[in-house]
Amino acid sequence: MSATDPHQAPRLAIVAALQEEVSHILEHMQSKRCELVAGRSFWTATYHEHPVVVVLSGIGKVAAAITATTLIERFGVKEILFTGVAGSLDTGVLVGDVVIGSHFIQHDMDASPLFARYLVPGYDEMSFKSNVQLSKRLKLASSKVLENLERYVSEEIVSKFKLTRPRMHSGLVLSGDQFVSNDALRESLKESHPLALVVEMEGAALAQVCQDYGIDFCLMRTVSDGAGEHAAKDFTAFLHEVASRYSALIVRAYLDINDR
Ligand code: SAH
Repeated sequence: MSATDPHQAPRLAIVAALQEEVSHILEHMQSKRCELVAGRSFWTATYHEHPVVVVLSGIGKVAAAITATTLIERFGVKEILFTGVAGSLDTGVLVGDVVIGSHFIQHDMDASPLFARYLVPGYDEMSFKSNVQLSKRLKLASSKVLENLERYVSEEIVSKFKLTRPRMHSGLVLSGDQFVSNDALRESLKESHPLALVVEMEGAALAQVCQDYGIDFCLMRTVSDGAGEHAAKDFTAFLHEVASRYSALIVRAYLDINDR
């Protein structure tokens, strides 16, 4: 096997929860080889001239943790990049914006009064962190794509989703086994975690597994909805029409930066 053989234990894994979040990437991978483990298809291939393994984790914290563990134990990956969509928890974070997760809290963890609320028992800190270097690359890649969005996304899509000036943010991501589509829940999450930018269902679980194994982790989420009453409707439309494209563009820009 040569050093560039795409099937030789790729260093980088690209993970998403939903098919639509990586459909563009999967379509453009060369010499794809599929291995079925724990009911998931792990695609080892070359993407944008880089050997990678791409997998759908499925939805929720447990599915994400199984996927990360398999990637590390079975495929020997050293870096995990998660790409997907999330609901906004901040009035400054709009649909179409991109959030790079710096730290992650499991908002549904509650072992109180034995342990502090949100603390995963056995850990010293309430939040799990992404890798600073990788997140820096991801931020750079996202800003590059967002700055030149008109080059990649049609005017029709831009106006339909009001994507005129999407922005990149970095900060706290909340994860839990709950699709947040209710104003009261959204407000209570925001009240408990004033710094939270978005809510989703996998990030903190991946970050926990990566921390335990000493594997580098980074995450980007395109904002698909406002985590309020209209979340389900906004989410579906956005996922089909925008998320997949964004995800591929940012991952490609990330791989380009990786080369340097
Ligand atoms: N409609 C999908 C289910 C999506 S669940 C299906 O039928 O398969 C929502 C997914 O998007 C999760 O992977 C989660 O990480 C993310 N997400 C987007 N908006 C969210 C929100 N408002 N609350 C929680 N997770 C959200």
